[in-house]
Amino acid sequence: MKTDFYKMTIGEVSEGLRNKEFTSLELTKAFLERIKEKDKEIKAYINVTEDLALEQAKIADEMIKKGEGNILTGIPCAIKDNIMIKGVKCTAASKFLENYIAEYDATVIEKLKKSGAVFLGKTNLDEFAMGSSCENSAFFPTRNPHDLERVPGGSSGGSAAAVAGDLCVYALGSDTGGSIRQPASFCGITGIKPTYGAVSRYGLIAFASSLDQIGPMTKTVEDCKIVLDVIKGKDKMDSTSTDSIKEVKMDKIRIVVPKEYFGEGLDKEVEKSVKDVIEFLKSSGAEIVEVSLPNTDYALACYYIIAPAEASANLARFDGLRYGIAFDGNEVDKVMDIYLNNRTNGFGKEVKKRIMLGTYTLSSGYYDAFYKRALKVRTLIRQDFEKVLEKVDIILGPTSPCLPFKIGEKSDDPMSMYLADIYTVSINLAGVPGISIPCGKSSTGLPIGLQLIGAPFEEEKLFIISSLIEKKYGRN
Ligand code: GLN
Repeated sequence: MKTDFYKMTIGEVSEGLRNKEFTSLELTKAFLERIKEKDKEIKAYINVTEDLALEQAKIADEMIKKGEGNILTGIPCAIKDNIMIKGVKCTAASKFLENYIAEYDATVIEKLKKSGAVFLGKTNLDEFAMGSSCENSAFFPTRNPHDLERVPGGSSGGSAAAVAGDLCVYALGSDTGGSIRQPASFCGITGIKPTYGAVSRYGLIAFASSLDQIGPMTKTVEDCKIVLDVIKGKDKMDSTSTDSIKEVKMDKIRIVVPKEYFGEGLDKEVEKSVKDVIEFLKSSGAEIVEVSLPNTDYALACYYIIAPAEASANLARFDGLRYGIAFDGNEVDKVMDIYLNNRTNGFGKEVKKRIMLGTYTLSSGYYDAFYKRALKVRTLIRQDFEKVLEKVDIILGPTSPCLPFKIGEKSDDPMSMYLADIYTVSINLAGVPGISIPCGKSSTGLPIGLQLIGAPFEEEKLFIISSLIEKKYGRN
């Protein structure tokens, strides 16, 4: 086996498996060993599914022997712990679901199982995917493999750290307002939030249903495309899913850079790296112009009304009866006590805050002033994107305004934590696809990411341009 064995991409592993350089069982055992050793400090995994992985690896080896399967057959991956695998604990990093065992497979899991994938385990996240640093996990924070003092981003921080720390070949995350792209940027990997509806949400623990999407987190652009190809598509269990991802051709590349993305609050080193890429693309023949997305300033406020409103409705199901923490029912005589006890002790601070915010903005008297108004602003934001993307291929900007911050640095300052999502939330509000790819490092060696945004179902264009940038700036 090669020395940089754990760094291999999906294509490289698949080739090694087909050429019999190693078996999936050998590979899986090697990754499990590495997790035992390295994840003590990174803490990317909530639950390592060793038995399942070994069993799946044996099945994959059989498939490969018979010439069955596809490029993902036998390849060890990690799954964010808000995506259900039948018979495996699915906690959403909440005490509420600490002992909940998934009753069914998410559609993406079913598709990966059919491909002969190997699940190494479930990765850490901010509780119910609410957060930008992984510090809101009810269990423990995950650390950034590039600097263990720093956060890996969130909410899919466990998945990002697992890929960046070479504790799996690729991972799945979910993105409601940036949760795939921001941790991808913080950990120096590639992650895409597909167009809303491109991937089925069935079996994803819902945060905000009109914004949530599952997507791949990988070491390269090519890997991202491979995983998306397998998990995408219409699913009868999610009526918002469709088969619409387009094949595209590009002769001339037309890119716009929104002036609002380079304003106050953007870290100087991030700005410089992104501007370097713009210069590089210009010199490669791309046409680049500056535009305005005038409603950018309202995106964060709009998101922090709509997402909590939907979350408050989605999380109403956690009542202590259908799901709940250990609780002796004999001690109560009123059902209200069960609700109260479970919701008081089961949810963490950030989740409670969002439920309260959401119920407030949806309540009669406030609905028109907050929720309904936010929906109108959402339409304006979507129209900003539509207008621009009618004429050009891609919008380019930073993924995050800041570099990965220290654990604890922003915990007491929710506003500055929410500001970390300033460039990502509008993409979910508009429903368009966005990818984050590495574009260099800071003077202190921390990864910097860049975001490309495309028209609905034109993921292909994101991949084409990302590959160009990756060729120049290198991969993780
Ligand atoms: N950080 C954002 C939030 O806290 C986005 C989370 C996500 O995309 N799941 O809501």
